Parts: sequence; C-alpha cells; structure tokens
Amino acid sequence: MTDFDWSRFGPETQAVRAGQHRTAEQEHSDPIFATSSYVFGSAAEAAARFSGKTAGNIYSRFTNPTVRAFEERLAALEGGERCIAMASGMAAIAAVGFGLLKAGDHVVCSRGVFGNTVLLFQNYFGKFGVATDFVGLTDYAAWEAAIRPNTRFLFLETPSNPLTEIADIRRLADLAHGKGCLLVVDNCFCTPALQKPLALGADIVVHSATKYLDGQGRCVGGAVVGPKELLDKEIYPFLRTGGPSMSPFNAWVFLKGLETLGLRMRAHSENAAQLAQWLKEQGWVARVHYPGLPDHPQHHLTKTQQCGGGGIISFEVRGGQEAAWRLIDATRLISITANLGDTKTTITHPASTTHGRLSPEDRAAAGISDGLVRVAVGLESQQDLREDLARGLG
Ligand SMILES: *Cc1c(COP(=O)(O)O)cnc(C)c1O
Repeated sequence: MTDFDWSRFGPETQAVRAGQHRTAEQEHSDPIFATSSYVFGSAAEAAARFSGKTAGNIYSRFTNPTVRAFEERLAALEGGERCIAMASGMAAIAAVGFGLLKAGDHVVCSRGVFGNTVLLFQNYFGKFGVATDFVGLTDYAAWEAAIRPNTRFLFLETPSNPLTEIADIRRLADLAHGKGCLLVVDNCFCTPALQKPLALGADIVVHSATKYLDGQGRCVGGAVVGPKELLDKEIYPFLRTGGPSMSPFNAWVFLKGLETLGLRMRAHSENAAQLAQWLKEQGWVARVHYPGLPDHPQHHLTKTQQCGGGGIISFEVRGGQEAAWRLIDATRLISITANLGDTKTTITHPASTTHGRLSPEDRAAAGISDGLVRVAVGLESQQDLREDLARGLG
C-alpha cells in the first residue's frame, strides 16, 4: 500500500494496517527484514542510491523495511508527517538535541521529566555549550520568563512523573511559537491513543517505545515524530551518521504492540481509575495523584486534552518511607521495578530510587515525599491488585 493516505482512516484502522507494504510473497503479517545491507543491480544504481538521486534501501542503520513500517504506523497514529525510529527513548531525545541544537543555544525544560532527560540536557548538551533552564511544568509565567532570544525549544512530559501534573500543551505551543521556538513533547505516558500533542500545536513528539508502545515489557526502542521537512533535514542526517538505530526485530515487536495500543490504553486507564478511587477511600492513604480523579488540580484540562487518565498513579501513605517500604515489600503479585507500560503492574518508591540522587530539599521542592509510592497499573484483575496493595498497611 505505497503512498496510501492513512490520515483519512480511524485510529483503530491505522493501528493494524498503516505502514504495511506487502512483498511479492503476499504475506499477511509484517515480515522481519533481518538484513544489514541491500544489493544493487549495478554500480550506477549504487551510485544513484548513495547520492540520494533515487530512493531505496542502502544499509539498515538508516533504511530498513520493518523499521519503516513501524515509523509509518506510529506517524499515522500521532498524526505526524514523518517518524524516525531510534534505538531507545533516550536515543530519540538525544537525536532531537543533536539535530536541532548548536553551541550557544538554550533549552527550557520541565522539571518533572524523566531523570535521564535532565542529565542529558545538563551534563551532555551542557558540555557542548547548550544551556538548559528547568521550570515547574504548570508554572506558565516561569516558562515565559525562562525563554531567551537563543532558546531553540521547550521540552516537557505531560502527565509528569510521578505526580501526574498536566500541562496545557496548546498554551505552551502558542507561547513557544510566539517567541520563535519549538515545542517538543515526550508522549510516553499517554501515547497517541490518549493524547495527540501535534494536533494541540506541538512541533515534535518523542517516544520511549519501550513502555506502552511495546506494552509487554520486551524491547527497548524510541521514536521522533514531526513535520517531514524538519525531520528529514535535522534529525534523519543525525540517525544516518550518529547511528542510534532501531533493530528490525524490535521494530516488528513494536508494530505488533501498536496493533493493540488503543485497547490496552483504555484497559490501563480503566483499571487505574478504579484503583485510584479505591486508594482514596483507604485510611492509610493520605493523598492520591491521578489525572482521572475529579479532585486532581488539572482534572478539567485532562478531560479536554486526554481521552483517559492513563495507567500511572502515585499516592502518599501515612508513615513516611517506613510505611511506603512496608507496603511495597508486602506485595506478592505486583513487580518491584521502576519500569512502566507493561501488562504487569509495577511499583516503586520514587524518593529512594528514581529521585534518590536529588538532595532532600530538591526532592521536597519537586513534591516527592518519603511516603510517596508510584504504581504503573497493568492489566491484572482489580480485586487482586487491591488485595496486594492492602497487604502491608490495610
Ligand atoms: C523510559 C522513559 C524514557 C527513556 O526511554 P528508554 O526507552 O528507556 O531509553 C523517556 N521518557 C520517559 C517519560 C520515560 O518513561
């Protein structure tokens, strides 16, 4: 189905069909092209391919049919013109930085982003002369005040991790564009099944495919989605020369993951919403953070910007770290791991793991209390999850 306009189709159709280009073998499921290189018919054909005069496969660092199928499918789902697959979520964010930034440039980044994203901007892009300022995700005055004439882009995740704060993507896109910079959104937590940042004005979406796009905890991968011209000019050359490529096997796993993405995200959201409501009713829980709850500070925005609360809940137990660890250690079913976006529910104590490197003052400023527990709700039975969480403190 070459040059098929998938934007005319519904997301359920895009998820199972976009990006498939059947070969002469007439296979129904997508094949895995496990090949590092491709054969040319002649020296002249090879020369034309390498110079870019004719399109086609050259080498799997930057051209592979299985990887391309994943890219076309995710581009269709995000409503983007172009997607470039990467080796991991961090490789995708690094590629955006290497592609778009030069020494002397400036970035404004939400403080509530994935820890390695903070380190990447601070330690690595910082080393090459790019300064980054960090601001509170929903502090719009701080975003505006931080933008300088040399700011290249704003970077955020919404909902934030682990407190599930929601930023107004449209508002920050307008702010960025008014000041001549771009908005980059890490859409890992919601996926295009629940939120489409490009339709809300964002310029670039990045993904850790490792999480919900795979959805079953098997492969590490990532992607950048956005306008064709910008990605072809600024990001693709970095993939070709820098080499953070996705393997065809992983691309195939993610292709299969995308087929059930909508179904899974609805089920994760439904399971999480029920569990969040139940947690609120437990005496040992002091506070629950979940965008789907009516008392969430940005609940109204959640309803207009997302079509579901997502699978991530965090909650504060009474009794600080001692109580939080007791609850976590008493689980038998739920996996103690910092990963998320799996069919299996996972649990973690942010203050002593993902946010353990912050000073106690910085942790307090970020709202990460010692009693905070994060649960990435999987697809197990609701009753079993409740029993598992109640065992330690209930
Ligand atoms: C996991 C994660 C990343 C990094 O992705 P990897 O695939 O692990 O490199 C980036 N952003 C968010 C929000 C994540 O959860």
